[in-house]
Parts: sequence; structure tokens; C-alpha cells
Amino acid sequence: MDIESQRQAMIALIEERGVTDPRVLNAMRRVPREEFVADAFRDRAYDDCALPATEGQTISQPYMVAAMTELLAPGPSDRILEIGTGTGYQCAVLSLLAREVVTIERLPGLAESAAERLTRMGYTNVEFHVGDGTLGWPERAPYDGIIVTAGAPEIPQPLYQQLAMGGRLVIPVGDDSLQTLLLVIRGETGPEIHEVSGCRFVRLIGAAGWHDDA
Ligand code: SAH
Repeated sequence: MDIESQRQAMIALIEERGVTDPRVLNAMRRVPREEFVADAFRDRAYDDCALPATEGQTISQPYMVAAMTELLAPGPSDRILEIGTGTGYQCAVLSLLAREVVTIERLPGLAESAAERLTRMGYTNVEFHVGDGTLGWPERAPYDGIIVTAGAPEIPQPLYQQLAMGGRLVIPVGDDSLQTLLLVIRGETGPEIHEVSGCRFVRLIGAAGWHDDA
């Protein structure tokens, strides 16, 4: 199968698994995932699984990217904060859906190659930062949506506080072996928390996350 057909098959599978938002599906149709995986995994770029990235990190499973993006529901005028830039794949999908994306990665090497890659590919509405994303990026707050692509022991309070009223936080919370994907909506009277599904991500490491990468 050529790469274009593989990408179409991946979208069909994501749709079959229950993601229906046409904006999300279209954005994922437009991002060439093969550009984000290590060369050795290029021919597996459209398998519906997480794949190794550099520095022991991973590029998330396409279905999970789609499901989390659908929950986040980024609108064309929204400012989105992403924690865990990684390869930049999720970030590329977000940049096609939102007005601007602020993304934070704790490992400088990953942040640098993601920034270089996305710039080369023509994604221009993204601001890259190296740092501890559990603290958010207060300079650009409030955010219409915040997406965390690593697993947290609990909801980091700085992130909740940087949400606009009505803003949405999508975050995996739990222990190392299994997390629950949460959708947290900031309301006038406090957070509205929806438990969405089980999932498994690498650790979110930082002041309001895990304190080591064991
Ligand atoms: N969204 C990525 C996948 C991310 S994997 C993609 O589409 O490729 C999780 C990433 O979170 C890793 O790169 C890891 O280094 C990063 N990370 C972990 N803790 C972090 C923190 N406190 N702040 C920012 N990034 C963090």
C-alpha cells in the first residue's frame, strides 16, 4: 500500500473506533505522520500504535491523538497549550485546528528537533518552549484548551488555573501502569470532571507531576 492509502486507512480505523469530528479527521488527514517517526519505523508510521521517538520517548498512538483532540475541541479562534511536545505530531494536528499553539517540552533535544521539523513543514502558528509544563506557561494564559500528552499523578493545579472560563483540559491521570483520560472543564462554580477512558502514557515529570522518571 502506498503511503497515501496507508494514511487514509489510518483515518478510517480512527473513525471506526468512534472519533467523528470531521475537523479532527481532516486535520489528521493532512499531517504526514511518517515525517515524525524515526527512519527505522517509517514503514510503520500508519500502524495504530505508539512508536519510539528519540531520548526514550514515544509518539502517541494515532487513535489517542484523535480522541484527545476531539475532547479538546480546539476552535479556529482558540489559543491552545500543549504539555509534552515530543516529536511535534500532536502539535501539528492542533496547529491546523486552532489559532495558535503554545507547546512545552522538558527535554531540550526533543524540543529543538520538533521546532525545526514543524518550521520546515510550514506550521507557523506554534510557539515552542523548553521547561516544566506542569507549571503551564502563565505569560500567555488564559488558554481555551490545555492538552497534556504525558501521564500525571493528579491534575496539576497551575494548569487548571491557566484555563479560561469554560476552557477544557485533557489529561491522563493515574499511576504508571494505567491512567484515566480526564476531560476537565473550568466552570464558574469549580471544575467539571469527566472520566473518559483508560490509557497509558510516559510520565509527566515536574513540580506538579512525578518527581522522577523511574
Ligand atoms: N505529543 C507528543 C508525544 C509526547 S510523549 C507527540 O505527538 O509526539 C510525552 C512527552 O512529554 C515527552 O517528550 C516528555 O519528555 C514530555 N514531558 C514529560 N514531562 C514533561 C513536563 N513536565 N513538561 C514538558 N514536557 C514533559
